Amino acid sequence: MTTSRFAPSPNGPLHLGHAYSAMIAHDRAASDSGEFLLRIEDIDGTRSKPELADEFRADLDWLRLPYREVTPQSQRLASYRDAADNLRAMGLIYPCRCTRSQIAAAATRTGPDGPIYPGTCLNRPIVPEPGVVWRLDMEQATDLAGPLDWTDERRGVQQARPEIFGDVVLWRRDAPASYHLAATLDDAADGVSVVTRGADLFAASHVHRLLQALLGLPVPVWHHHRVLVEADGRKLAKRRGAPALADRRRAGEDGRAVVAELRAALFDTGISLAETVDREA
Ligand code: GLU
Repeated sequence: MTTSRFAPSPNGPLHLGHAYSAMIAHDRAASDSGEFLLRIEDIDGTRSKPELADEFRADLDWLRLPYREVTPQSQRLASYRDAADNLRAMGLIYPCRCTRSQIAAAATRTGPDGPIYPGTCLNRPIVPEPGVVWRLDMEQATDLAGPLDWTDERRGVQQARPEIFGDVVLWRRDAPASYHLAATLDDAADGVSVVTRGADLFAASHVHRLLQALLGLPVPVWHHHRVLVEADGRKLAKRRGAPALADRRRAGEDGRAVVAELRAALFDTGISLAETVDREA
């Protein structure tokens, strides 16, 4: 039986792209009488607006996508800390004090999340005071883990290539844990067997697979779905005018019809589905 999840960050209202993602996750679990979970990913520092979580719940109810809510990320900080302590004890993470602009100036390569960290702090004696971030020593980590693969239900078996990210940040300055660490730990803790999310996060799964190997976590299957894009090929976004589900809900639209349309992928509004799309910051 499948356990899937929808894991929105309460940084802004949900729009049709989120409804599509939630529908895919819901239907994937429903396909074998599994369970569809909602997890609020609310550790994004000042960008997190806790009041939006209630809107998300109301949106899912309106869409008629029944879910079971699991513990929000803000209440799981101890597990993130334990995992970071383990990685530290294994000598796999190191403190870094570089600023974004220093990294941009020194970087010679770009990865899926932007400039690849040039390793400036790798062998520097940095005092791990508050305000430093902790990075994964990718070379050591991949050496230790050895070759890994993972399976995407739509694209088949993938050789894990976490090195395309370089030394990713696992512990942030402005939030307790990075998305990579928190989401990987939570999916394991929640018993998620199929990780569904947009194809814009496909590459992130290379890093998550590595973290699973390092931390001895179970390995799920992934399902990276197509992403809703505007006529210009860019991902639907609230700031480019994608209407919030909450507004449509309040305006009296029928959420069930919205999902029916998404299931049929019948768009008469210039919106279509793309296999891949650049992830915007
Ligand atoms: N909180 C992430 C987001 O809203 C979800 C990523 C995931 O599903 O793994 O982009």
